[in-house]
Amino acid sequence: RDVLKKRKIAVLGSRSVGKSSLIVQFVENHFIESYYPTIESTFTKSVPYKGTEYDCEIIDTAGQDEYSLLGPKHAIGIHGYVLVYSITSRKSFNMVQIIYDKIIDFCGVMDIPCVIVGAKMDLKNSRQVTPAEGQQLAEANKAAWIETSAKTNVNVGNVFEMCLAEIEKRAPSKQPE
Ligand code: GDP
Repeated sequence: RDVLKKRKIAVLGSRSVGKSSLIVQFVENHFIESYYPTIESTFTKSVPYKGTEYDCEIIDTAGQDEYSLLGPKHAIGIHGYVLVYSITSRKSFNMVQIIYDKIIDFCGVMDIPCVIVGAKMDLKNSRQVTPAEGQQLAEANKAAWIETSAKTNVNVGNVFEMCLAEIEKRAPSKQPE
């Protein structure tokens, strides 16, 4: 019988890029048209990955800008990160590197288990960021990358599976149980 492993995943990014919608689609299987701006909330879901059930705690954050300070709640006990931008917002894309650097700085590490997510990929006509740019950003930071749509439910589960993969890849035997 598999041991239930706990994994804490923090979801960060600019405001209104679709963080809550992504998490709610993943955990509750529906799309929210509009969602009251998040202060901070935690969702839980059991996720099977490579024959193990991971008890995932997913932390939805308020959203960050260049002036936001990261604190212990964004670093201590967090196993992996999902950094979200909207493919319709260049500004939110640029914010990903800023947030990434703040996490690295706060945690005092070289890199972190991380998936960079280009959200709202269904809004093709408003695209401001190409897939190639997303991939390049991920490569530069040794992170994984994927585009998603919470609205049309594309690649939503993959985000969290990829995050578990990034976590396991880095420290397969050193994770707290
Ligand atoms: P958050 O502030 O980052 O948590 O963003 P929200 O999840 O609250 O989403 C902000 C707005 O974008 C809401 O009106 C959502 O309905 C919309 N939205 C979120 N995800 C998608 C998506 O995949 N496609 C489209 N078309 N709209 C989305």
